[in-house]
Amino acid sequence: MSGDFSDRLLHWFASEGRHDLPWQHPRTAYRVWVSEIMLQQTQVATVIGYFDRFIRAFPDLDALAGASLDQVLAMWAGLGYYSRARNLHRAAQLCIAQHGGQLPDRLEELLALPGIGRSTAAAILAQAHGQRLAILDGNVKRVLSRHAGIAGYPGLPAVERLLWQEAETRLPPDKLGDRMPDYTQALMDLGAGLCTRTRPRCTDCPVAGDCVAALTGSTQELPTRKATRSVPERSVHLLLAVDGRGRVLLERRPATGIWGGLWSLPECTAAASSGDDPQRERAEATARALGLELGPLQNLATLEHRFTHFLLHIETSVATARTVAERASEVADQAWVSSSAIAQYGTPAPIRRLLDLQFDAERT
Ligand code: SF4
Repeated sequence: MSGDFSDRLLHWFASEGRHDLPWQHPRTAYRVWVSEIMLQQTQVATVIGYFDRFIRAFPDLDALAGASLDQVLAMWAGLGYYSRARNLHRAAQLCIAQHGGQLPDRLEELLALPGIGRSTAAAILAQAHGQRLAILDGNVKRVLSRHAGIAGYPGLPAVERLLWQEAETRLPPDKLGDRMPDYTQALMDLGAGLCTRTRPRCTDCPVAGDCVAALTGSTQELPTRKATRSVPERSVHLLLAVDGRGRVLLERRPATGIWGGLWSLPECTAAASSGDDPQRERAEATARALGLELGPLQNLATLEHRFTHFLLHIETSVATARTVAERASEVADQAWVSSSAIAQYGTPAPIRRLLDLQFDAERT
């Protein structure tokens, strides 16, 4: 079965696979690594633009390790899951300190670096060095659950173990070792392009002949979905203070927690009394703590932002502000930032949206 599966997949890949992804030319370990980390939670179409910009800014491991975390986060801003960027930066510095400035080419050493799990390590080694290692990312889990007919939520350890076995069984035989980069990409392409979550195109699939899900009509049941729980919700209230020059006050968030190390708007955390306008009360208390005096206040429509584990409601109060006193509270780094300088600050996607709206409104 193994040779047969990989033969069919490679044959299909030759004409139908993706051969022009930026990290394939050249397919160095560094470029594959950056792409794999970006692809962990993000689709290829979105990653391509970020990848090109990131590689222009940090063309090699030396450049990445030598950059400040702020510069790296600024290049990552908008991609989300910022711990990926922090781990990438930290891992680059460890490669300089411990591996002679190279990304290691041994599985155990790669696994010891922050942010690199078994599937990511295997994807790097298979694509950059042709090593015969199986991958098992989310797309591949879906393909294998269906092809092998494995029921059970793939996130469960017992199910995942079975899927790893299936992934290893299907690797190209040793004699096709030099096809590992193509085989690895082919499996990813099959999952992303044909064996999609809602409407797999089994009639075009090179491995449909022995696919359990296709043969038994169970593509909608496999892979087994996670038992659903209601998503917890949280709220945050932000102050968008604009000075006389149209600049916005930003604060760097603490290194840990949501949006760790990124720049955001000051949070209004003060408890409001039971007055008519609690948002105004909280915003004014925050302004006082920051040594600001606010002009008329406008409350924007609430934004929603979905994290993996919760839904965040973002309330925003906008006001002109002028500095009237020394800051009364100790807060993280602060900066008044203009629209022309905003690209140098790593800001989370919903905050960037708010800032873009504000800067656009000022221009009109
Ligand atoms: S035949 Fe259909 S379900 Fe099976 S692997 Fe191919 S696309 Fe997926």
